[in-house]
Amino acid sequence: MTTYQIPSNDFGRQWSEVGEEVLGAVRAVGQSGWYVLGKEVAAFEQELGARLGAPAVGCASGLDALEIALRALDVRPGDKVLTTPLSAFATTLAILRVGAVPVFVDVDQAGLVCLDAAEAALQQDRTIRFFIPVHLYGHALDLDRLERLVAQGVTVIEDMAQAIDAKWRGRPVGTVGRAAAVSFYPTKNLGALGDAGALLCGDPAVAARARQLRDYGQSAKYVHEVVGMNSRLDELHAAVLRRALLPRLSRWTTRRSEIAARYRAGIKHRELVIPAAGEGSESVWHLFPLLVGGAGRAHLAEHLAQCGVHTAVHYPKLISEQAALHSAPFSIVGTLAQAERFARQELSLPIHPYLTDAEVEAIIEAVGRWASP
Ligand SMILES: *Cc1c(COP(=O)(O)O)cnc(C)c1O
Repeated sequence: MTTYQIPSNDFGRQWSEVGEEVLGAVRAVGQSGWYVLGKEVAAFEQELGARLGAPAVGCASGLDALEIALRALDVRPGDKVLTTPLSAFATTLAILRVGAVPVFVDVDQAGLVCLDAAEAALQQDRTIRFFIPVHLYGHALDLDRLERLVAQGVTVIEDMAQAIDAKWRGRPVGTVGRAAAVSFYPTKNLGALGDAGALLCGDPAVAARARQLRDYGQSAKYVHEVVGMNSRLDELHAAVLRRALLPRLSRWTTRRSEIAARYRAGIKHRELVIPAAGEGSESVWHLFPLLVGGAGRAHLAEHLAQCGVHTAVHYPKLISEQAALHSAPFSIVGTLAQAERFARQELSLPIHPYLTDAEVEAIIEAVGRWASP
């Protein structure tokens, strides 16, 4: 593995800041003698829900949060679920795991699912009753439009794995859909020291079903109402998240926003486009995507690597083109031209909160020195 002076994530610097508090959280859990679904999980769910504006149910990962939400909202094998082909594979994997059929529509200028295309698909095919929009890259989708779809009877599950604390015109993501999925995978804006996730759900009956599903389908000890799974949240993760990490999330988000503003002011290159999010988005900048013209992406990535700057691609291949989909039923409505452009041209610059001002300037300069092939 190559090491870069400026990596995409810097867990070393994060540990120097949070390590002592993390160890304190570990000690508290160890001394409690209770390791799964206990007081720490309950306290974390309480704080997370209060902060994000909807009751939270902890689970083992973002993927599980999506699957549990689909099942709690009664998706059946063969049901069609509208979604985006440009996302982490988990968005579609959750749909496949419940035996449902993904229906892909194109993305917009920012790379997020195109709501015009989604509305058209829902109009055209009334048998599509479910929609998983993704607040990709840390940008918020238009929640007013999502709310209208909910009012029309579409079951919307927001994938906010990349967008914790993002808002649309002051309104937090995750509060409009029937449920929302959060991930605490280490690279996410609020990342645990391992896998963890949560779903948000304002409907007490659906939340209660989610609580059963995450724990073997139990409604009480040894009473199994439904065929559930093991997606329990560990006390360790809950304690570390609540005691050491969640208190820092606002500061981390502010730092990400400062870096994004600096990039947007400083990067002027005629071969590069910085995709703009919707006007109402108060983004949390999980990633900082660029679109590199022509065949320049690999060349720019190589140039930045020479300068010690790690970059990544989100995402190099559309989900609809992955081998795992060869044997799964799915459909595409319209073209995926814009999503294909992102797959060909997108390159993400480092934007983690531990970047120093000098590093940010060094990245801007390195981008400025690049000459396209
Ligand atoms: C990370 C991610 C997920 C899945 O979360 P895990 O915790 O890794 O299972 C789902 N959707 C999106 C958009 C993600 O970025």
